[in-house]
Order: sequence, then structure tokens, then C-alpha cells
Amino acid sequence: MSEANSHHSARSQAVSTVLAAVDELTPALVQTLAEAVQIPSVNPRYPGQNYTDHIGRESEVSALLADLYRSSGADVEIVTVEADRDNACGRIVGAGGGPSILFNGHVDVVPANASKWSRDPFSGLVTDTDVHGRGATDDKGGVVAAAFAALALKRAGVKLKGDVVLQAVVGEETGDHQYGTSAALDAGYTADAAVIVEPTSYDGTTPKLATVSAGGLWFSLSFEGKAAHSSLRGRALHPTLDGETLGVNTVDKFWVVYQALRNLEDQWAQHDRHPHYVPGHFSILPAVLDAHPTGFKVPFALADTLTVEYSVTHNPARTNEDVIAEIEHAVRSACALDPWLREHTPIFEWKLLWAPYTLSPDHPLLPALTSAHSAALGAIDESRLPELSGFFGLCDITWMDARGLQGVMYGPGVGNTAHAEDEYVPIEQLVVAAKTYALTALAFCGLAEVGTS
Ligand SMILES: [Zn+2]
Repeated sequence: MSEANSHHSARSQAVSTVLAAVDELTPALVQTLAEAVQIPSVNPRYPGQNYTDHIGRESEVSALLADLYRSSGADVEIVTVEADRDNACGRIVGAGGGPSILFNGHVDVVPANASKWSRDPFSGLVTDTDVHGRGATDDKGGVVAAAFAALALKRAGVKLKGDVVLQAVVGEETGDHQYGTSAALDAGYTADAAVIVEPTSYDGTTPKLATVSAGGLWFSLSFEGKAAHSSLRGRALHPTLDGETLGVNTVDKFWVVYQALRNLEDQWAQHDRHPHYVPGHFSILPAVLDAHPTGFKVPFALADTLTVEYSVTHNPARTNEDVIAEIEHAVRSACALDPWLREHTPIFEWKLLWAPYTLSPDHPLLPALTSAHSAALGAIDESRLPELSGFFGLCDITWMDARGLQGVMYGPGVGNTAHAEDEYVPIEQLVVAAKTYALTALAFCGLAEVGTS
């Protein structure tokens, strides 16, 4: 047998032992995920939450992951920037001579409104097909699947050339990457490519492969009106009477801007296309509106103050700066046609700028993950290639990209239940993800040897 052939057969032997190892480990994977879901690791900084009610619970999930990382042969470190918010980081040192890969996921979850759930949100209930509870999809399913991928490599006796790095981080749901992903990267837990284990299927079918992430913006607009008694509305509203010299109701003025941004949103739906997103995906959402007469919240005076907050999801092919300029232009143009708003233009405050992300199309992680996904599904077959999809939220890939680290999003779950009621993850998808992660590491980092574990 030639050297190339014997390497090929060592590689296919490794693939089948790794796949078998994941199958053997599946009951433990499911049980561990149930335990992780039962820890209510609600992000303590999530809006509307009482910090002290939740602080420390993320660390319990990280400790669970740290144990798994150790069992897979990793050197493990707890990286903590904000007290009681531990990140679990591990590195399985390879034999050398191959690129390294990072698997990143978050241990924090969003709150659950128990009254709207069919059962306790933190039940961790396991059925024949699914694991239920807050975080099952977003993002504990992926985090636990990645840890079990590493365990499966160990059990299969597979030694890789490059390092496998594992991160279970805090703070993702509030964008507090400085306590989570960025802290872990800065502590040295980085690699040549990253897989973010966030859910990439909406409906619980096979994970899709997301190589792009939309830009995300958050801004507020503050309007100024002119106070007057509620009984004077008619006279203030109709310009043939007193008009705006008497009073200006900000709620009416907001409509001008509302329509302008709604029109822009329609234009995006008609014309702004990206091959990995459905037409109409990009949006300008007004979801917080606070208007009232200064000093009180009863409708017995014209509202002379109004603040509206928008979040924007924009085409990854565009820059944040370009989109900001377009939105500001649309608002200014609409205001220019209104005598009051021309003089009292609402004031923008840009609160969050989350840069879009696009993976280089020739990145070597792509063929590695694609072949791994096919093998995980049991066939090297065109129809088993992962479906490309844009990531549907914001995630920490943006902060990795800012440090020159590129990667993909690929993970198990039912995206439609993330941040919603009755979140769950199909066990079948956990298995597909764990197999894909293990085989991606094998393909990307390179096989050094297959021995016995
Ligand atoms: Zn998430």
C-alpha cells in the first residue's frame, strides 16, 4: 500500500471510529444537556432582570463544561473578567504541524416567561426525540455538542495535528463580549478558524451553514413638541386655526418619521438582496415608543416629548456607516417637508453598532465543514451538502472578525423557539452537530495518528 493510500485508510478509519464514538456517547450528551438546561443561567445584565437574582449561574454551566473539556484531554482554564461570570476555556494540544480550530458557544440564556410555557422553562425534560427548556437551542445544545465532539475524538483515540480550542462563554445575549468571547480570545484561547455553535436552522431540521451575519444597529430618535392643554388639540392640529404656534403633539410628528423609515424598509424588501437571506429579511424595527406630556403620563395635554427606539438588521454586503447615512438621510428628507420638524429635527443617538460579517469564500474551513456534515449525515452525496444560510441574529463572530479570526456559524436547534416559549432541541440534530464538529476538527486540523484512547 502506498503512503498516500495508507494515510487515506487511516483517515477513513478515524472517521468511522469517531462517528461510532459519538453514537456511544449520545445518552451522556443528552443527559449532560438536560443538566445544563436545569441551571437557570439567565444573563444577569439582560434588560428588566435583577442582577443579583442571576449572577453566578453562568459559572455553574461553565464548570460543567470545564469538566467535560478536561475529560477530553484539554488543558482547562477558567477565564473571568467580571466577578462570578466564568468562561470555561480548553485547549487540546495537537501533535503539531496543522492549523487549529476553535468551537465557541455561550452559557447565558435569555429570561423565560414561565406563564407562557407548557412546562417549567428549566425542566430539562428529555423525551424520545427532544431536550426541552430555555437554552436547549440557544445555546447550550451547541456548547454541549462541541464538548462531546472533543470527547468522541478522545474516545476514538484520534490525535490531531492542530489544536482544538473550546470556549463556553458568558454575556453573549447582551453583547457583553468583553466579559465573554473577547475575554477568552484575549486570554489566548484563539485559533486559525472558528465554529460558532449557535443554532442555524429555524425549524429543527439539519443545521445550515452560515457564512454571513447581518449588520445590527440600535438607535433612538428624540422628538420635541410644544405643550398645550388637551382641549386645544383641535385648534393646534388644524393649520387654518391656530396651528403649531399653539401646540405640537410629538405623537403626530413621529408619524412623519415612522412613514419615512417604513418606506425605506419597503425599498429594502423590494431591492436589497443577499443570496443567503430571503427577500425582505433586512428590516428597520420600531419597538420602543415613549411619548407623553413632560412630567406626567396622562393624555390631558399634548405630548411634547417622544423617544422611539429602532433596531436595524441590514445586508452584510453593506457597511454600518453606509446604512447609518441612508437612515439619517431618509429622516432628514422627510423632516424637511414638515415646517415644525424642519426647525425641530429629531435627534439621533446611535446606541449599538454591530458590524456585519462575511467569510472569505475560499476559506479552508468551508470544505472541511462541508465534508464533515456530509459524513455526519451518512453519505458523501451532493444532496447532503449543508444548505447555506445567513445567520439570523447577531453573534460573537463580529468580535472574532475584529481580531482577524474568521469562521462560520453552525449549530443544532430550532431557531424559531430561541428567545420564545417552549424552546427545545431535537436529539437527532445534537448528534449531527457533534459528529460534524468532530469531523470538521479532523479534516481541518489534520490527522496525526489513530491509536487507542
Ligand atoms: Zn445564542
